[in-house]
Amino acid sequence: MKIKSIDVFQVDLPFAGGTYRLSGGREYKYFDATIVRITTDEGLEGWGESTPFGATYIAAHAKGVRAGIDEIAQQLIGLDPRRMDRLNDIMDANLAGHHHVKTALDVACWDIFGKSANLPVCDLLGGRTNQKLPLISSTHTGTPDEMRERVATYRSRGYRGHSIKIGATEPEGGPALDAERIRACLADRQPGEYFLVDANGGLSVESALRMLELLPSALDFVLEAPCGTWRETLSLRKRTTRPIVLDELITSEQNIVELVQDDAADGIGLKISKSGGLTRARRQRDLCIAAGLTMSVQDTVGSDIAFAAIIHLAQTVPERYLRCVLDVRDMVTVSTAEINAPVHNGGVSAPALPGLGIRPKLDSLGQPLIRYG
Ligand SMILES: [Mg+2]
Repeated sequence: MKIKSIDVFQVDLPFAGGTYRLSGGREYKYFDATIVRITTDEGLEGWGESTPFGATYIAAHAKGVRAGIDEIAQQLIGLDPRRMDRLNDIMDANLAGHHHVKTALDVACWDIFGKSANLPVCDLLGGRTNQKLPLISSTHTGTPDEMRERVATYRSRGYRGHSIKIGATEPEGGPALDAERIRACLADRQPGEYFLVDANGGLSVESALRMLELLPSALDFVLEAPCGTWRETLSLRKRTTRPIVLDELITSEQNIVELVQDDAADGIGLKISKSGGLTRARRQRDLCIAAGLTMSVQDTVGSDIAFAAIIHLAQTVPERYLRCVLDVRDMVTVSTAEINAPVHNGGVSAPALPGLGIRPKLDSLGQPLIRYG
């Protein structure tokens, strides 16, 4: 089987909540998705998506995805789409780094691999676990009362995991406001709920320590991505007993090796887009299991196609290591594919159909921007 052509689509995904606010005054109103269709000489089609969280989140941006695909795509024509590691070798040989570029291509090949073997991608990635995947909500920054209400709304929909965004600048209220946000969001905490408090790398060590000092130690939450650099993270790590998980600082399996070496954190946000696709995310998963690190399987953002990749990977993570998955479909107003993954009581399962188990909505995708091959 050989790759015959690669089509690239672009779709704007408006944020479902109007304006998404992150630490440092960053705001996002919509997300720019790149979606790829790979067609084989046998007529199989595979789909993948890469949607960076705007250009100010990590060193990844949407126009770069398409420019990067332009560097790689022609080199993939004629290759067997089922030899995932070898395909990644070719992508790396033609473009150093830029993992987010490779994600859509990698995931589309896994989709083809699954269809060719008549197996869902989760079974190719190691085999389906029996658990319902617990979804985590995403509450962006606002006043403490607004954020408490958002958590309550998600709770009423069955969510047991909640990601609370913080990172107020000093003029906005600084560590005192962030501490109030955390207290408000945890005020109605129910047994069995899991809270991540996510600064998206926006705190200095000083502001993180001030915030933690303002909170009672009995509050049950995990601090996610407090600081923007490795040094700051290690410094904070030495001075707090609060569990820490990393997100933006982990974009490769090498980062996890460094994390283990430095004992820098207790878990990671495993996002498929920033990692370069399912091939590399699978390696990250295995390193985390070996090191006893917990995982939240997510993506930076995205639509149904990105969600399909998330839940197929998450469905292979043993229950004791999987904290939650992110339903990126909830964050945007455009649907790019049909997927049979209904949410029951805040839980979801990967589809049983071959490949990713999706049916793209061609009306939402429009015409391809470009075809390679
Ligand atoms: Mg995060």
